Amino acid sequence: MELPKTYDPKIVEDKIYQLWEKSGFFNPDKLRKRQKKHYSIVIPPPNVTGELHMGHALNALIQDILIRWKRMQGFKTLWLPGTDHAGIATQNVVEKKLKKEGKTRFDLGREKFIKEVWKWKEKYGDIILNQFKKIGCSCDWSRARFTMDDDYSSAVKETFLHYYKKGWIYRGERTTNWCPRCATGLSDLEVEYRKEPATLYYIKYGPLTIATVRPETKLGDTAVAVNPKDERYKKYIGKMIEIKTVLGLAKMKVIGDRSVDMKFGTGAMKVTPAHDIHDFDLGEKHKLGKKQVIGPDGKMTKLAGKYSGLTAQEARIKIVEDMKEIGILEKTEPYIHNIARCYRCKTVLEPMLSNQWFLKMAQLAKLAEEPVRTGRIKFHPKSFEKPYLDWLKNIRDWCISRQIWWGHKIPIEGETDVLDTWFSSALWPFAVFGYPEKTKNLKNFYPTDVLSTARDIINLWVARMIFSGMEFMKKPPFKDVYIHATILTKEGKRMSKSLGTGVDPINLIEQYGADATRFGIAFQIMGSQDLRFVDDNIVMGKKFCNKIWNATRFILMQTKKNYSKSILLHSSILSTQRQNLTSTDRKILKALDTTIKSVNNDLENFRFGRATHTVYDFFWHDFCDCYIEKSKSQMANRSQQTQKILLYVLLTSLKLLHPFIPFITEEIYQKLPIKDKKKCLMIEKWPII
Ligand SMILES: [Zn+2]
Repeated sequence: MELPKTYDPKIVEDKIYQLWEKSGFFNPDKLRKRQKKHYSIVIPPPNVTGELHMGHALNALIQDILIRWKRMQGFKTLWLPGTDHAGIATQNVVEKKLKKEGKTRFDLGREKFIKEVWKWKEKYGDIILNQFKKIGCSCDWSRARFTMDDDYSSAVKETFLHYYKKGWIYRGERTTNWCPRCATGLSDLEVEYRKEPATLYYIKYGPLTIATVRPETKLGDTAVAVNPKDERYKKYIGKMIEIKTVLGLAKMKVIGDRSVDMKFGTGAMKVTPAHDIHDFDLGEKHKLGKKQVIGPDGKMTKLAGKYSGLTAQEARIKIVEDMKEIGILEKTEPYIHNIARCYRCKTVLEPMLSNQWFLKMAQLAKLAEEPVRTGRIKFHPKSFEKPYLDWLKNIRDWCISRQIWWGHKIPIEGETDVLDTWFSSALWPFAVFGYPEKTKNLKNFYPTDVLSTARDIINLWVARMIFSGMEFMKKPPFKDVYIHATILTKEGKRMSKSLGTGVDPINLIEQYGADATRFGIAFQIMGSQDLRFVDDNIVMGKKFCNKIWNATRFILMQTKKNYSKSILLHSSILSTQRQNLTSTDRKILKALDTTIKSVNNDLENFRFGRATHTVYDFFWHDFCDCYIEKSKSQMANRSQQTQKILLYVLLTSLKLLHPFIPFITEEIYQKLPIKDKKKCLMIEKWPII
């Protein structure tokens, strides 16, 4: 058997992927019947609007390494893929498309608009899943799920009603982050903060002075707050003060509250419960009124008197002018303000009073905390556990309603809001298996084994999956949470498509092949440390693939006959020929044993980079540089034994390398002169010592 002179991933990769798909082994039902142990991972479902970026590629690689490793260990492995309907994100994409045609979603009406979104989804929704195939992901595509599949929707409905009957869901008026462009409330976690220059206005407030960056919301003030410890203002607490305003004279109550920062501005602050999240809480506590002066469209309401109809921005300019004129603007200062913007469309948010649905967090936070505190769920690295637990201590009730059209409609009659996308993604680890039906899949694959994800969605998603799993399945949804690194540019900057700093993994695959790309990424994983991406490692991956190819070519040229796999087993080489082994033989076999142990140990502990380095060093240095070189002189009088050792070490190396670089290893395996091979390297027995 001879291999072509050079390795061409373009010819091999698609062919091998088809071989795998045809084999059926991505599906655990097609794996050996007698195997009882199950191993499962559910993919963090990418948005249907998504396109593969380096973060996806890294996370897909990690999961594929784990799945391939466990599959070879004989587990019934399932890696379940799917996509998220991604409410706001998808709605925005379709709205943008409509805008090009000069239409808005309101022109179409709800029903037609939703049909448009489905059409869009049918056309583009699988792009990202096909990109996962390009990297070599061994997902069971026959089980792919979408968060708006019919039975998935049943799970959403069921869980909502479960909470509702328990009295944990309530409707309430609350000041939430509001995007005037998307016309929806957003959860605290959907807000992007950016430090931007602003102006701090010092405004006379009767005998006091307050400082604010948003003078237009002053029209909605219902109190002034000071710290009760503040000697300057103590005497005013509980009193009504008379103030001059741009809308005439008014009376305002002074309240004392410890949350007031004595060092900010003048130490006295206005309280605007309808337009500030913190002020809302303060208003509830002190039973203050709420005055909504900005409407959901971002314009001033009737309560804003002569300013009504202006946008908040326009009103600010006008109000500042008027304050100057009546002499209540004391001074202004430049100020760096943390401005809240919509995470989807980047519009400046207006915190606003609106009617929303909430899920009570008091009990659920405890459910999210327990398995992590007791070690039933372990974070890797462990350092992520503390911020997770701290966050749960201060959690607010979850605003689960959104005023958009694309999503799961709240299952209450007359209701038009949809559920926050994360409400459905929180159910992912069991809803994908057919919950609330008691399915075989649910029994076999829940709880899943590992969740691999990015650090920025620990609170947004991981915590919510944990309490949902505890509440509905009475078991944590996974045992290990692996938080992967963030991939940065070479200069240490955030990768972003819009900033033009992103690297497209599909381009890398085109240029170097999937194996080289996988290898180059895996080689750089060092814990959850941010990873500065350089092409050099991918180039190295390509060289490594060529090295493996050439070594194999050499070995195949030396190997005259077909061997049975059994005589290639390590023990048989050792037991029948122990006395005949040369010191070179002994050295390579020992180095291989050490490598096997080390790689297993690293994979058990999620040390992907180290495992990659170890197996790379072994193959390149111990095997190619030393053994293969010396084997040439051994061939003369120890031909058979040397052939066997060459083949044995090659075969074992291919197995060890398979989870990292599956295509080339499979291609070579298919060509090895071994009589009783399995159908695929993918289901070969994993080496253990
Ligand atoms: Zn928006």
